[in-house]
Amino acid sequence: MHKLHPNNRIYLHGVAISTLDRAAVEDFIVERLTKEGGDLPCSVFTPNAEMVFRAVQDPRLAELLNQGDLNTPDGVGVIWAARRLGTPLPERIAGIDLGEYAIAHCAANRYRVFLLGGACGVAEGAADKLRKKYPDLCVCGTHHGYFAHDSEENENLIKMISQAAPDLLIVCLGFPRQESWIMANRYRLTSVRVMMALGGSLDVWAGQVRRAPTAIQHLRLEWLWRILREPSRLPRAAALPRFIALTLRAERAKKRKFKAKLS
Ligand code: UDP
Repeated sequence: MHKLHPNNRIYLHGVAISTLDRAAVEDFIVERLTKEGGDLPCSVFTPNAEMVFRAVQDPRLAELLNQGDLNTPDGVGVIWAARRLGTPLPERIAGIDLGEYAIAHCAANRYRVFLLGGACGVAEGAADKLRKKYPDLCVCGTHHGYFAHDSEENENLIKMISQAAPDLLIVCLGFPRQESWIMANRYRLTSVRVMMALGGSLDVWAGQVRRAPTAIQHLRLEWLWRILREPSRLPRAAALPRFIALTLRAERAKKRKFKAKLS
């Protein structure tokens, strides 16, 4: 196993988040992609505020997220809350950016990539677009994300991935399906080196969903852009004010404890 050193993570509302900066996270992934044989595939999760909030409500989700070998902070909400609670994180590391970094590294080193998830045709569309951007990229297989986990289709998928022998497996089934699929199947996919759970990234790479322009990303308003573009996300966004309230309550409790200690 290759969990990060405990000093390299904080627990935000009970969810482990890596304190590594982007460069260190990239080095970690490159090292895992390079390492041959033996170990289980390294699992990379990218929790955002909504995921952390759901994990507070359901401890099984916290337990699932905490099994990730590397959990990077995907979203300004996580960065904001960590700072309020006195455990600041160096920077936001968007899952989609990290995924593309890993893909570019695979292209440059002739490593093999498998894309799993999305509606029919999305993973293929993403593969086409990524191959255009990275001509040396070897996408050794794709599969849609709509299948039952304990089905024959899943068994066939495991065989398909084993035969394709990817070094990097991108898993985009939405939270928490993608994390639980990774944890349930990584023991059977030991030739894979890195598995990344990346939500809607395939939709973006396939050109089905437009990512916020860089200016909006810099303004830290990517979350608002997504809600405005996809109003169906509104019910999910309801977790955000509750996440903020939870954090402010936790901050007050922490301050009270600190004051009590002093007096
Ligand atoms: N998805 C899937 N199988 C499912 C449910 C969802 O492949 O059973 C895909 C869905 O098509 C989308 C992605 O998982 O491409 C989840 O995207 P979402 O925007 O919810 O993820 P986020 O980026 O918010 O984590």
